[in-house]
Amino acid sequence: MSEFIDTCRTLVGAANVLTEPADLERYLTDWRRRYTGKALAVVRPANTEEVAAVIRLCNEHRVPVVPQGGNTGLVLGSVPDQSGTAIVLSLSRLNRIRNVDTINNTMTVDAGCILEQIQNAAEEAGRLFPLSLAAEGSCTIGGNLATNAGGTAVLRYGNARELCLGLEVVTAAGEIWDGLRGLRKDNTGYDLRDLYVGAEGTLGIITAAVMKIFPQPKGQLTALAAMETPEHALRLLSLAQERCGAALTGFELMSNLCLQLVTKHFPQMRLPFPQPYAQYVLLELSDSESEDHANTLLEGLITEALEQEIAQDAVIASSIAQSKALWNLREHIPLAQAEEGKNIKHDVSVPISLIGEFIRVTDVQLQEQFPGCRMVTFGHLGDGNLHYNVSPPEEGSQDAFIEHQAAINRVVHDSVHRFNGSISAEHGLGALKREEVRAYKSDVELRLMRTLKQALDPLNIMNPGKVI
Ligand SMILES: Cc1cc2nc3c(=O)[nH]c(=O)nc-3n(C[C@H](O)[C@H](O)[C@H](O)COP(=O)(O)OP(=O)(O)OC[C@H]3O[C@@H](n4cnc5c(N)ncnc54)[C@H](O)[C@@H]3O)c2cc1C
Repeated sequence: MSEFIDTCRTLVGAANVLTEPADLERYLTDWRRRYTGKALAVVRPANTEEVAAVIRLCNEHRVPVVPQGGNTGLVLGSVPDQSGTAIVLSLSRLNRIRNVDTINNTMTVDAGCILEQIQNAAEEAGRLFPLSLAAEGSCTIGGNLATNAGGTAVLRYGNARELCLGLEVVTAAGEIWDGLRGLRKDNTGYDLRDLYVGAEGTLGIITAAVMKIFPQPKGQLTALAAMETPEHALRLLSLAQERCGAALTGFELMSNLCLQLVTKHFPQMRLPFPQPYAQYVLLELSDSESEDHANTLLEGLITEALEQEIAQDAVIASSIAQSKALWNLREHIPLAQAEEGKNIKHDVSVPISLIGEFIRVTDVQLQEQFPGCRMVTFGHLGDGNLHYNVSPPEEGSQDAFIEHQAAINRVVHDSVHRFNGSISAEHGLGALKREEVRAYKSDVELRLMRTLKQALDPLNIMNPGKVI
């Protein structure tokens, strides 16, 4: 392998082929620090041509490739296995904003651009790039596309796939496919772009993308509403969509336990109500006319929701600081749950109309089998996406409870399946859920996926052991 490493060094420069254990550590360990893999080297090309040259070399030597962006993925997709035979191909040096076109409303960006960098470049051009998630200061657009990331604005703008108009890809054979077309209409055969989006690096390497940008909203307002059940939240969602249309950009459900944990572990944060309620919804409106218009819409909506007894109480943020404080409650739920101790996470989706029933039925099943377990249920209700996380009972050994992880996953995922849902709504499969998903996909679907993988990566060098 020393010949392979030497040639890598001539292709991308010696400083960009890392082999020392101390230099490799952060590339080999996943975000949650659950797992550390092994690799021959971390290779950091500077541009598309260098990526292609490295992949051709990997073909010659049959060296597997694990593409990596910000390494913030949550399903062990961006870290190598224990064999030590693969390279990690870091896209972090491909970090140029290539072009911003405010007439076509598109940006062409290198795959290694950090999401926040793209949001800022759009803002400087007077536009909005709406993809937004808590890892935005570290994750890359290549990783966002490879995992088809969702985040908080999917309700209005769609997930990463819907924001993407074109791709540049280095194929598994090391060829460059230039599909950087900023077209909204292009029906000229199979949609190759959509094959690479969401493929988690198992079919090829995304090196650049054309992404949609949008006019910036003139007014943005946030409200927190309290209610009895998730079904009431669904009624509020329908009402909000009827009254506010496309201005509704966020609709997040949070159970009482979620916010109890937040205020317990972050006492500086407070709920804006005198008493607790069973469920809460955080709503966001982004208005294209003005702040006043947004305010009229939101006040009308909240008044109607209270009159119809959909909501029991509600507050509208009257300043940016108040709005931030409301979003902070939502964003601190995972942190508060981590402070509380170990827990078992699920990122699932079901048809929006069935969410209330799904929560009720699954809660009962889990309580019957694991009495006292605590469901920390929150998520992007407007997208049918729930983070249905299960914490141990307050008393008793956390470690003993976590040993039931496989059985708890089975209860939750079987329930998701009965509701015609997905066991991975936005995080992907990676290595973590690769086996699990086989129980829920038909033979036909698995065979079609294998056929695609075989056709596009016949040597199985692109991120082997992930997804399929
Ligand atoms: C705090 C936190 C919050 C998060 N919130 C959300 C959320 O709200 N919604 C959501 O959907 N996800 C969320 N995620 C997970 C999410 O998938 C990632 O944050 C992000 O999309 C991954 O980008 P990355 O650059 O870090 O990719 P990585 O972690 O480096 O890679 C992820 C996968 O993509 C592949 N890959 C990376 N770059 C490329 C490329 N250029 N070409 C081909 N394949 C590539 C990797 O091989 C791997 O399989 C969150 C993660 C964290 C840590």
